[in-house]
Amino acid sequence: MSIEYRASLFFCDYCGSYLEPPLYYCEKCGRAKIVTESGLLQQLRRILREERKAEIEGKGKDIVECEVEAVQDDLVTMECRPPIFDEGDVLAIVKGEPLGIVIEGGRHILLSKFERVEVKPGDVLKVREAERLVSYELQLKLLDDYENCTLREVEKLAFNIFFKNDFKIGGERMKAGDYVVLTYGGIKTDVELDEHQRTALDKILGLKDGELLLIVGPPGTGKTRVIAKAALELAEAGKKVLVTSHTNRAVDNVMELLPVDITLRIGRPEKVHGNVRPYMLSYKARQRLGEELRELERNIEELREERKKLREELKTIKQKGLLPPGWISRIELKLQWIERRLKDLVEKRNKMLREESEKLVREAKIIGATLVKCGLWPLLGTKFDVAMIDEASQATITLALLGMVRARKWVLVGDHYQLPPVFKSIEEPITHPEVLDPLSAFNRLVTLVGEDKALWLEEHYRSNPRIICFVAEKVYKGRIRPHPSCEKIKLEVGEVRVSTSDYNLLGILDPEKPAVFVHVPGQEQADGTSKWNEQELRFVIEVVNELKEIGVKGGNVGVITPYRAQSNRLKDYLGEEVEVATVDAFQGREKDVIVFSAVATSSNSVRFVENARRLNVAFTRARRKLIVVANAEAPWSGLMKDYIDYTKKSNSYFQL
Ligand SMILES: [Zn+2]
Repeated sequence: MSIEYRASLFFCDYCGSYLEPPLYYCEKCGRAKIVTESGLLQQLRRILREERKAEIEGKGKDIVECEVEAVQDDLVTMECRPPIFDEGDVLAIVKGEPLGIVIEGGRHILLSKFERVEVKPGDVLKVREAERLVSYELQLKLLDDYENCTLREVEKLAFNIFFKNDFKIGGERMKAGDYVVLTYGGIKTDVELDEHQRTALDKILGLKDGELLLIVGPPGTGKTRVIAKAALELAEAGKKVLVTSHTNRAVDNVMELLPVDITLRIGRPEKVHGNVRPYMLSYKARQRLGEELRELERNIEELREERKKLREELKTIKQKGLLPPGWISRIELKLQWIERRLKDLVEKRNKMLREESEKLVREAKIIGATLVKCGLWPLLGTKFDVAMIDEASQATITLALLGMVRARKWVLVGDHYQLPPVFKSIEEPITHPEVLDPLSAFNRLVTLVGEDKALWLEEHYRSNPRIICFVAEKVYKGRIRPHPSCEKIKLEVGEVRVSTSDYNLLGILDPEKPAVFVHVPGQEQADGTSKWNEQELRFVIEVVNELKEIGVKGGNVGVITPYRAQSNRLKDYLGEEVEVATVDAFQGREKDVIVFSAVATSSNSVRFVENARRLNVAFTRARRKLIVVANAEAPWSGLMKDYIDYTKKSNSYFQL
């Protein structure tokens, strides 16, 4: 028996069964063991290595040919064909090492390269986007640093939370300056935070060094406004604040509620968030450098043009042999001069941008970045007073630590009733996402302290009460409730014109029935390892077309299905306007109308679809209308069965 094997031997706390790594999940009683120290270290390392392998093998990434133009310390300029990279992209050499992070995108990109990579001018590299790959490398390195005891004291504090279960939940309250809700750009509104949001805010402000706060933010309960408000209040009290999450979207949602003059966004925002541009590092750096930088870049561009012209000229002359050799060497000398001049100017520009960027990072009171970016230039080495992590249920411990080691007070906002992190290399949790809880930063801690030690945001503002009351009761056990204003959130439609007499569409689309079930007596069919359901497919297309017919914009409709084979087919039929995705991909977002296609009809698949976490995420994406499409005669026994009963009671159950 190897030492590694011996060290990872664990038994179930409840029934004594031997637990298999890497999950230490008990097949018999369905519990997962919370391991600490070396066991956890091995568990995480094993999974991260598998994930890294899956990512290296991963296909489908665009490959870009990049010619290195200039190298100066860590700064590299490269010409990219095609020019698809943007600020914040993390790049790697195809089938090779991580390369660096893009400071400025476009055709000639500016890159801050990682230390161990060697490149020189003239090199032509095949490069791809590689944020996940780099993320796994950073997490593995962090684990090495912990094991080799090379972490700083303050960084160890964050590690001790997870590896020694050594942490303190903050208990003190400190009154905020005011409780008004912020809107775009940090402008104050006349709406005030509710009681639960106030408590969360006061407790964040009352945090002491080494203390941690867990905030449960179920769908639509205003976690974004709490995080934004707390960031502003902390900044006004002279603290430096990190707002982070595993997704750009979650970071951007907070950013746009903050004053742009004290807030800095590092990385690559989601494309839909045009609002975030003025917060971005390169935008701010350019604003500050102004005409001096523009002048420099004009010169660089002119020289590049001239170089191109001369190179072409030289090629033609050489081919045709038109001129005496003296002329040729004169052109070559000119080219050499241009190269030297270009190198000087590019280096000057890069240095200006880097210095200004680092200055902006030092000056900013609030910085927003994804967790991966916390471990990369220009945040490397930056210290914060407080780190606030949104959607922390979906962040693995090591990913969360990339942000947490930068601060000495921590706020984790999550929801352990939604889906935990996704791992490509693990099959098991597809049916039982719960077994991943000990690896999720938020879920692990909530499990350890008990959910009553966490602060709950309890008032829901986003969806119609018929939609939210179902999960409020069945999933959240009455812990959340709709605010009275939710009553007004209904589908607004023109006249319902039913085009097919077969379908009971008039009732299904009735705005007075916000949560409906439609029994479609189809059967699941296998497609590789995935599944699809032809009858449901047809009905979903029909109902989506009818929704558009009565005036609902395609962009306000989302179609969710747990199976990729079904979502791929739906995408083909529904085009680009209507968003179709699996449950995981929809987490953290919302639509006016959600159509859910369950697909499953066999008992195994039904258990997978009916998982409470999965259905909770799917159902709570809907604001005004939820249309659940499934075969009611399939062996449902959990949340879906409850939903069928729920809709029957309110005359919202239909069958084709
Ligand atoms: Zn057991």
